[in-house]
Amino acid sequence: MNDTVSNNLQKVRKRIELASTAAGRASDAVKLLAVSKTMPAQAVREAHAAGQLAFGENYIQEGVDKIASLADLPLEWHCIGPIQSNKSKLVAENFAWVHSIDRLKIAERLSAQRPAHLPPLQVCLQVNVDGGNNKSGVAPQELLALAQAVAKLPHLQLRGLMTIPEPAANELAARTVHRQAKELFGSLNAAGVKLDTLSMGMTADLEAAIAEGSTCVRVGTAIFGVRS
Ligand SMILES: *Cc1c(COP(=O)(O)O)cnc(C)c1O
Repeated sequence: MNDTVSNNLQKVRKRIELASTAAGRASDAVKLLAVSKTMPAQAVREAHAAGQLAFGENYIQEGVDKIASLADLPLEWHCIGPIQSNKSKLVAENFAWVHSIDRLKIAERLSAQRPAHLPPLQVCLQVNVDGGNNKSGVAPQELLALAQAVAKLPHLQLRGLMTIPEPAANELAARTVHRQAKELFGSLNAAGVKLDTLSMGMTADLEAAIAEGSTCVRVGTAIFGVRS
């Protein structure tokens, strides 16, 4: 029995707890999403045995295969990767959450394709806060219009924003991007689009993200090890 995943999870939970305390926030205000992309189903089983229930996948087909092979466990699956139109049906049928919506067309497809027997798909809009040219994510100036349109779709429930900052040179730089995401989150709420989820923070920047108000950190490497 290899208990590395279990030990790693304990360390990550401790990091979340310390960062939350330092920020004056309750440690249960931050949800841990274990990012299992490229990892075998067995690694997910080990994490589940150590008490982890929510998992994130980037690659749709890989995620769907893993979900099927782990259907005996009561897991909550989050799609956090880019979604091509021809993959939206698989996402609508298999995942509980999507963090990576960045255009209306995909949101409309997901809503139309969500099976009636499932609860609404819980969704976040991916926002490109730091303006990286080759990055997915809606531009901040287009965010409000997208949010208002997505909020009207019947089989989606708009929950929040997701951001993937460029790797930052230092903690201060990382925090600037997180702070901008938090400000966008606040301005949408002020505009009447009710959001409760701010999905930001990964292995390298989870402390900075929690300091700036993240409610969901997406952690892969620190739990499952370096991806090959
Ligand atoms: C891979 C990935 C993560 C996890 O990154 P780590 O640095 O391994 O913790 C989180 N979010 C997204 C969108 C990812 O693609």
